[in-house]
Amino acid sequence: MIIGTIASHSALQILRGAKDEGFETLLISDEKRKSFYERFNLADEIITVKSFSQVMSEGLQEKLIEKNVILVPHGSFVEYVGAKAMLELKVPVFGNKRVLEWESEREKSFEWFKRAGIKMPQEFKKPEDIDRLCIVKLGGAKGGRGYKLVRNAEEFYREFGELKEGMVLQEYIVGTRFYPSFFYSPLSKENDLFSIDIRYEANADALSRLPPTIRVDPTYVVTGNLPVVMRESLLPEVFEFADSLVYESKKLFPPGLYGPYCLELCCTDELELYLFEISARIVAGTNVWIPYAPYAYLKYGEAMTMGGRIAMEIKEAEREGRMKEIVS
Ligand code: AMP
Repeated sequence: MIIGTIASHSALQILRGAKDEGFETLLISDEKRKSFYERFNLADEIITVKSFSQVMSEGLQEKLIEKNVILVPHGSFVEYVGAKAMLELKVPVFGNKRVLEWESEREKSFEWFKRAGIKMPQEFKKPEDIDRLCIVKLGGAKGGRGYKLVRNAEEFYREFGELKEGMVLQEYIVGTRFYPSFFYSPLSKENDLFSIDIRYEANADALSRLPPTIRVDPTYVVTGNLPVVMRESLLPEVFEFADSLVYESKKLFPPGLYGPYCLELCCTDELELYLFEISARIVAGTNVWIPYAPYAYLKYGEAMTMGGRIAMEIKEAEREGRMKEIVS
């Protein structure tokens, strides 16, 4: 069995984890990135494609199936190939592919959060309903590009002209952000917190460096990630969120959410936690803790990364003849 992924996002961590667990590795790369990945010597084979959507081509799929490859999806994988297109992929993918639709379509994820009974920022259906500071998210926006803050309908129409398909008008939560990464194992049924990061976003995170006389509107383009820990007293609630999301997912899209996932939380000065998004696959923020995901270390007493944990689950499933439970 070979563990493969595409050359972006957290590919290095996924390949390192696979190697550490004794797997052969394969990377699908474009010509531009190939030499960068070669520097790390983590891919036993690199298949070069013109564009990443080529993963869907019959020829490449046949080749990957023949080689007995399991593909590990990450954020850029889903972005380049598309959550809907991935449903048609015949190559085994680690995790439940159906969850990718539930994370990428906001209406679906809000429905999921609601059913799980989790506090979310207030949604406004139309600009006229806006009665507080709001963040306007664009449909299909990549990495927070084009988001804007508005306080009422007038400001909304000034900024955007009209309400467009896929736009989300969401209450802006003033507070600190936390992105806890979990791994739910369908084999052991353990739902483990691994680590927490913060997305480092331009220009929102650059504004405090400017004098108050200079006004620049915040943008939310992710440029990197920072490590963070939460007050330990907040963690029980974070686990409650995670457990109820996993529980509800089994009813909404069986067999539900499993493998790595990450909650996007904002915490107010009243210590109230709000969930505003979910990533239902490995996030790049797990890279900041290599090789010790702190909470995995606290529980298991060993160095563990999310990439390594994925490979461990594949190994375990192979050993127990339970591969069907971990791929889709
Ligand atoms: P998203 O596309 O939902 O991941 O949002 C991109 C970024 O916008 C997040 O990482 C946050 O910094 C910020 N953001 C999104 N939603 C909210 C919210 N409801 N309240 C405060 N900040 C938010």
